[in-house]
Amino acid sequence: MSSEPWAPDSWRNKPAAQDVIYPDREKLDKVLNKIRTLPPLVTPSEIERLRHSLAQVQRNEAFLLHAGDCAESFDACTQENISNKIGLILSFSLILIWGARMPVVRIGRIAGQYAKPRSSPMEKIGDREVTSFRGDNVNGLDPNDRTPDPERLLSAYFHSTTTLNYVRGLLTSGFASLHHPRDWSLSHVRSPALREEFERINEGLSDALDFTRTIGFGSQHASYEQGGGRGVLGEVDFYTSHEGLMLDFEEAMTREFAIPSSIPTAEGSPAPAARRVHYNTSAHFLWIGDRTRQLTGAHVEYFRGIRNPIGVKVGPSMEAAELVRLLNIVNPDKEEGRVTLITRYGAGKIENHLASHITAVQQSGHPVAWISDPMHGNTLTSSSGLKTRNFGTIISELTACMRIHAECGSRMNGVSLEFTGELSEDGFSVTECLGGSMELSEEQLGLRYQSFCDPRLNFEQSLDVAFLISNNFKK
Ligand code: PEP
Ligand code: MN
Repeated sequence: MSSEPWAPDSWRNKPAAQDVIYPDREKLDKVLNKIRTLPPLVTPSEIERLRHSLAQVQRNEAFLLHAGDCAESFDACTQENISNKIGLILSFSLILIWGARMPVVRIGRIAGQYAKPRSSPMEKIGDREVTSFRGDNVNGLDPNDRTPDPERLLSAYFHSTTTLNYVRGLLTSGFASLHHPRDWSLSHVRSPALREEFERINEGLSDALDFTRTIGFGSQHASYEQGGGRGVLGEVDFYTSHEGLMLDFEEAMTREFAIPSSIPTAEGSPAPAARRVHYNTSAHFLWIGDRTRQLTGAHVEYFRGIRNPIGVKVGPSMEAAELVRLLNIVNPDKEEGRVTLITRYGAGKIENHLASHITAVQQSGHPVAWISDPMHGNTLTSSSGLKTRNFGTIISELTACMRIHAECGSRMNGVSLEFTGELSEDGFSVTECLGGSMELSEEQLGLRYQSFCDPRLNFEQSLDVAFLISNNFKK
């Protein structure tokens, strides 16, 4: 299969799971033709740089933080939401860097994470059966607005652009400066213990920065980059990602370039002379969801041909041999930095699957980064009918993941989380997941439940997770 010729549209000859049927095909083609002419959101150099960083993650030289909303919405594209999200990602990575003494590669589920796979094409709302909501780039959350509208793809392009523009602006204007980490909205954290722990890191960091300045290193703009060097999107390296679900859109954003020769590639420097490849220019990193990873399906076909680093969700239904076959298809040359496996079994199932997946991949000789997604195998419905996740169960999958990797002579290279720094109108953190240091109870769940998709960890619960991982790597 992998030796067959590939083109940005060769996926069209394969069955696409989670396909969206547009009633007006002509309108879709018109929109796609327009998108094809619009500029890339991200550049080949940035994508190559991420491949290089992910190769470091694979070699245990850096840790990957992949995080953000389950789904973005057009209405949530506001200054507050974007800066809170970036602030939380920066705070989380600061805790990891400080505890684990390792660089952190940050990839947001941001600036394009609109489309959602669904377990059923139809859903029941009250006594009505309607087409399922498939994400803001497909149809509306309003049950009366469920017909897929191609114009929404164009709107997604522009909302992604706006989001990315603001992220780039924030990160080049000192928002990520380690001299002012308090700017990242810690003010609403009510737990004194959590505040204290974070303040302690800030103080330690301040001292360290003063010290490096005194002895002549460091810079006015000290950020995560050693020596204050400028990274992708500004002072820090920050990358964007989304699930590559809507292949019509992904194809329209796929462009051919020569691999830039001025930057080191994951394979080493310099890049192979003027090799022309296809980049998906809508995000630095794209992943294949657990529902669309069929070996002979359209998504795997599309993903095998793009040069971007990719993620593959690995759930309990994945057979070990199937995983290796999938790796052979999407990374036949076993290139470093290319594939990140995002495991999401559920706390009760990880023991049955992870070790055999690790062993099979080790025996295959495929270089991969192993990331734990402790969210998607642990979703439940509360007694009041809200979709939620239990903090304790999330932690249980995470700690099992770190332990099983160690037992297999491997290592968990990162984490994939659904979290949000979003606040309610009255300035409180959202209440979507149970437990954590704030001990969120089932009765409190309805208070500030704002997700229209999967439940997210709030600011405090996310910092709890960051401290847990950071302490684990300190040992
Ligand atoms: C997701 O990451 O939001 C998602 C739907 O994950 P999965 O494909 O693992 O179910
Ligand atoms: Mn989700």
